[in-house]
Amino acid sequence: MFAVFLIVKVANSARAKGPVTTRACPYCQQSISKAATKCPYCCSAVKAEKIGPAEEAELTKGLKSLKEKVGNVAKTAKKAVKIK
Ligand SMILES: [Zn+2]
Repeated sequence: MFAVFLIVKVANSARAKGPVTTRACPYCQQSISKAATKCPYCCSAVKAEKIGPAEEAELTKGLKSLKEKVGNVAKTAKKAVKIK
């Protein structure tokens, strides 16, 4: 349970620092994915925004560091369980 909490915490912090991949829906102003073609909040059809190569590279980079962080947390959690 504790390990799950840690992973969620790290994932959330990484997401907060990550590149902006969302935009406001032109109809309801809710934050939606840039790649979305339909707003999940008001169901309006929206045009998908292209993610540039720079943003995509940053996304991949962010994902890699996130995986590393999750791996480290998992190791720490395993150690913590052993100590108990
Ligand atoms: Zn909307």
